[in-house]
Amino acid sequence: MTSSVKTVERLVDRFGRRVNYVRLSVTDRCDFRCVYCMTEKMTFLPREQVLSLEEIGRIASVFTDLGVEKIRLTGGEPLVRRDIVELIDYIGTLGLKDFTMTTNGSQLSRYAQQLKKSGLHRLNISVDSLDPDRFKRITRLGSLSKVIDGIDAAQNAGFTRIKLNAVIMKGRNDDEILDLVNFARERSIDISFIEEMPLGHVSDHNRVEAFCSSDEVKKIIETQYPLRPVAQKTGGPSRYFKMPGSNSQIGFISPHSHNFCGDCNRVRVTAEGRLLLCLGNEHSVDLRPILRDNPSSNEPLKEAIIDAMDLKPERHYFTTDGDIQIVRFMNMTGG
Ligand code: SAM
Ligand code: SF4
Repeated sequence: MTSSVKTVERLVDRFGRRVNYVRLSVTDRCDFRCVYCMTEKMTFLPREQVLSLEEIGRIASVFTDLGVEKIRLTGGEPLVRRDIVELIDYIGTLGLKDFTMTTNGSQLSRYAQQLKKSGLHRLNISVDSLDPDRFKRITRLGSLSKVIDGIDAAQNAGFTRIKLNAVIMKGRNDDEILDLVNFARERSIDISFIEEMPLGHVSDHNRVEAFCSSDEVKKIIETQYPLRPVAQKTGGPSRYFKMPGSNSQIGFISPHSHNFCGDCNRVRVTAEGRLLLCLGNEHSVDLRPILRDNPSSNEPLKEAIIDAMDLKPERHYFTTDGDIQIVRFMNMTGG
């Protein structure tokens, strides 16, 4: 018996957590080489190993059929992928509640208007320093003025609820915490401070010595601005606060110091099509052969994604003792 009524299936894991948020990495490549994310000399994936835009679109569409309401495009740097706007145009038609991108901002002056037109709802822009020389040292290849032009372009294109992301490292940029907060306040945008995660081996600095906990960052901000928690559950590692006299929210992304796994609502897909069930574990399913073996049917893909929910681990165990628990870099993971 067939029914014409479409039932919305839901993704639920063994621990009763509903997955309604997917981060899609559209490329592992980047025009920066941030010291916490990559090594100086990177070997990127051969093109044939990377999913085509059409394959990424199929994955987005199947997840949406399975009740996913939020998709974030990330990478690598999503805006270095050629023809990325075509994918954004397509995902923009899927009726998501929240469609966002994380970008380093270097190409936003060129793309912001187009992204807005294509139906992207929000942008997170990474900025770790407001000092041009230091910005260059942290990103190795980036130009601060280009990124600031990009933030301006995004605001002019009508993006609201823009959020800055800053990874804070002791001895590198921890003296800029209040400057970054003031920059966000002046522009009425939000800012999140991120604890560095042990993804991949970095040679530039000692992660143990550079580790700066969210509690330390919060204390510094509170010397100037009292912070009031915002009642908002994200299902992720972020906690949000408000300051008096400002609309800007301050977020703390604390994968080390605040366990959030109990509410985890998200999965990730790497640029190669590996569905990662947890940021801090290797549990995964390779979706690429399923996509390529079944070019005209999304059913096998759908089944694989539903089955994969059983692999989602209960929690991750990051430590700050310098162990690299995960050999893949963040640009592979899709931060
Ligand atoms: N290229 C884009 C960008 O930089 O915004 C998107 C991808 S990047 C991997 C996403 C976010 O992950 C950025 O905000 C970056 O600062 C953060 N990130 C990268 N490596 C990290 C690490 N080891 N620990 C914590 N955050 C990291
Ligand atoms: Fe590129 Fe983003 Fe990684 Fe920096 S954090 S190297 S901008 S992918």
